[in-house]
Amino acid sequence: MADQDHYEVLGVARDASPDEIKKAYRRLARELHPDVNPGADAEEKFKLVTHAYDVLSDPDQRRRYDMGGDSPFGQSAGFGGFGDIFETFFGGGGARAARPRSRRERGQDALVRVTLDLADVVFGTHRDLEVDTAVLCETCEGSCCQPGTSPVTCEICHGSGHVERTVRSLLGNVVTSAPCGVCQGYGTTIPYPCATCQGQGRVRARRTVAVDIPAGVETGLRLQMPGSGEVGPAGGPNGDLYLEMTVAHHDVFSREGDDLLATLDVSMPDAILGATTTIESLDGPVDLEIRPGVQAGDVLTIKGRGITPLRGTQRGDLRVGVHVVTPTRLDAKERALIEDFKKKTKSPAPKLAEFQQGLFARLRDRFRNS
Ligand code: ZN
Ligand code: ZN
Repeated sequence: MADQDHYEVLGVARDASPDEIKKAYRRLARELHPDVNPGADAEEKFKLVTHAYDVLSDPDQRRRYDMGGDSPFGQSAGFGGFGDIFETFFGGGGARAARPRSRRERGQDALVRVTLDLADVVFGTHRDLEVDTAVLCETCEGSCCQPGTSPVTCEICHGSGHVERTVRSLLGNVVTSAPCGVCQGYGTTIPYPCATCQGQGRVRARRTVAVDIPAGVETGLRLQMPGSGEVGPAGGPNGDLYLEMTVAHHDVFSREGDDLLATLDVSMPDAILGATTTIESLDGPVDLEIRPGVQAGDVLTIKGRGITPLRGTQRGDLRVGVHVVTPTRLDAKERALIEDFKKKTKSPAPKLAEFQQGLFARLRDRFRNS
């Protein structure tokens, strides 16, 4: 029975929050409590549930359990009879009765904002980020004590972290338990706190974290770096570091999915006669063929010059929408040329056609219909 998975016993997901674990435990404990549900079976289940909760409610023990280790059944100090359970429900601050709490706790997660330009998104990038967090105190290495000294058992609670008080009532003596005020529930006091960290086991410091940012990220995306956040109190395990991405606006290229979009200004003669040109893509110069008679709104696709998706290797395309630039200032000679051209080509009069939504409308329609 000790082999049963603690998460399954409590009926919670492996990533359940401390609050969800507590709720699941309370619900099961109420169902299975021997006062409510007598019988050996319920009592056995009750013990299992309590043990699972003991492990999963303690960040240190939970981490160890998640990594494959577990304290053998019965060794956990929390289970001292059914009376404890109700103190968990009704006792001060929800602290477990009859067990001192650990100074060591998991550290906070940290968040760093990273601004990238579009080329970083296309190719991925490396950054050395300055991160301000709590780090392990090097003087005491997280013990919180001056080197050569150690914590001593609290004289008030004798190491339990709790003090009990007996109150007489109509129903008889009622024992209540509260965290010990002298040791704050730790069960020990530190007579000579480390001077460097004031007995916290950690100090604030700026450090450099080297990060490889993959291609394909986008604004708002958070990358998680497990264990790179703050160190916990008394040298507890590190929290995680989150990097939140912001991609800066690019003057030429914008992103649509894995593709990059841009507009190509083409002069009227080039549109009519065709041309070869070189455009500056994020990969460097690319030759581009403009066919004779290209239309405003036509899209020229340059394969594989878009963005590598976050989970994938196939780069998107660079799509360039043609914008034919109509000349606005003509001298008399130029004007005469165009009028002559119009006459000779018998240019048709303006004609009503279906409305087109923007430059990329045709291309989108083509995708939709294919
Ligand atoms: Zn220290
Ligand atoms: Zn105490």
